[in-house]
Amino acid sequence: MYLQCCNHTHEPIMLLDGVAVTIGRSAGTKILDKLCSRTQLQIVANHSKKYAMVKQLGANPSQIDGINIGQGKTDKLSVDRKCDKKGTSSLKSRENMHNSQKNKTSENFDNGTAADVGPPRATVSKSSHWSQGLKSSMTDSSLQVYKDDRVIVIKDKYPKAKFHFLVMPVENIVSTVHLNSAHASLLDHMWKVGRDIAKRSCDDDTKTRFRYGYHAVPSMSHLHMHVISQDFDSPSLKTKKHWNSFTTEYFVDAEDIIHEIKTEGKVKNRRHMTELLKNALRCHICHTELKNMPQLKKHIKDCR
Ligand code: AMP
Repeated sequence: MYLQCCNHTHEPIMLLDGVAVTIGRSAGTKILDKLCSRTQLQIVANHSKKYAMVKQLGANPSQIDGINIGQGKTDKLSVDRKCDKKGTSSLKSRENMHNSQKNKTSENFDNGTAADVGPPRATVSKSSHWSQGLKSSMTDSSLQVYKDDRVIVIKDKYPKAKFHFLVMPVENIVSTVHLNSAHASLLDHMWKVGRDIAKRSCDDDTKTRFRYGYHAVPSMSHLHMHVISQDFDSPSLKTKKHWNSFTTEYFVDAEDIIHEIKTEGKVKNRRHMTELLKNALRCHICHTELKNMPQLKKHIKDCR
């Protein structure tokens, strides 16, 4: 499920099942009006029942279908109904939303976080969405590099390094928070396959270092383990978010996830880690702080 902006002023916002998303005034929503709080609404989607519970956190009024929610109060937002922070919303049909999505790709969203963006006018809907893009890429022969009865490995469509693969289970698992102790052997297998792929991809160059792991809050649906070389030499690596998602603790090593599953039977919720994406840019090797992405990219070319 996701929130679609009726005015098309910003991109849709993914709502994972049962995961609270806070939206309000932010660069992402392009809402500048200070009457709208930075944390105006908290939204928790219920995928099976096709609704979301919306809590008004901000002081100024927010409405669902023209009716004020009230600060501290919660109301239900059903699929295709409108939700608006300032009471000036208009209805948006699902068909219109499909059209608005046509020319968009997941590259516009990859490594984005839902928690810091939100719509001025939105409707909840359920249909194919950029966050589902990995599902079609899994069977795309131009991307697939390995397949067995339990996992598929594809090249990342927007690689953030010279070698960047995604290892995914054949079984439909949404993300790490949907894992339980029964998945321990699958995770071990994904890790092993990831290491084999890394070794195979740069046979001639044993110096290439790789990391294997998961983003704390993935932007794409369907469980995927990143296999990424540590050169970060790629034109698709463009933003601070990209950088921090692979070089801070936001990148959780596969071994840690496997350990959590084997000892706790579940993976910790790491939503608070989205804050790490705002960290200053630092070289992952020598930790020097760099002003911007061009400077960082220049620096890491020599810092080996
Ligand atoms: P994350 O969900 O944050 O762990 O990362 C998702 C990864 O998927 C990013 O590295 C993207 O570059 C990559 N990606 C996004 N869309 C696609 C796609 N349709 N096919 C393959 N890889 C993709």
